[in-house]
Amino acid sequence: MSAIEVLVGDITQLYVSAIVNAGNTRLTGGGGVDGAIHAAAGADKLHEACAKLGGCPTGDVRLTRGFDLAAEAIIHAVGPVWQGGNRGEPAALRACYRKAMALAAQQGFESIAFSAISCGVYGYPHSLAVDIAVSEVMACFNGADQVQNIGSVKNVIFCCFNEEMAHLYLDRLEMINVGN
Ligand code: ADP
Repeated sequence: MSAIEVLVGDITQLYVSAIVNAGNTRLTGGGGVDGAIHAAAGADKLHEACAKLGGCPTGDVRLTRGFDLAAEAIIHAVGPVWQGGNRGEPAALRACYRKAMALAAQQGFESIAFSAISCGVYGYPHSLAVDIAVSEVMACFNGADQVQNIGSVKNVIFCCFNEEMAHLYLDRLEMINVGN
């Protein structure tokens, strides 16, 4: 049985197999959730691990250990910067979720917690981003075409920093349940 949960809180505190960071293409760390994850994981160790990866294109993911986090691993996803929606942003954001799920499955992870990729300084409209996050994860669970099998992944958490964001996820998930 698999489960999708919505949590309000600090993603750095979660006991999960992997947390998904909202990183940048250089994987250098920064503000927002990325900064919080670097600080909590041990900035020097995580910087060194990220430096070895040589960056990550938009719409892709990379893996590091979790270092001092309770989480075993960090999946660094590089979401798109919102530029109005016609510059490939939806496809890039979708790819982040799909590839993070596929990587988690490939690693044999059981639980994965997503931050709201691109919803901070990258400016993605929240309700559009939430639609993509929820529909991609659901598609992975439902084994839709083109989407990798989720294998070991049993638990997906959408970790929000505030209640407003959490409500968007909950409303979206409820709509899907009613639709089924
Ligand atoms: P991006 O650059 O991809 O937009 P941000 O880090 O600016 O990424 O924001 C992504 C989301 O992460 C935002 O919704 C922000 O409120 C949230 N966030 C910031 N810090 C944390 C944290 N410690 N735990 C969970 N979510 C966080």
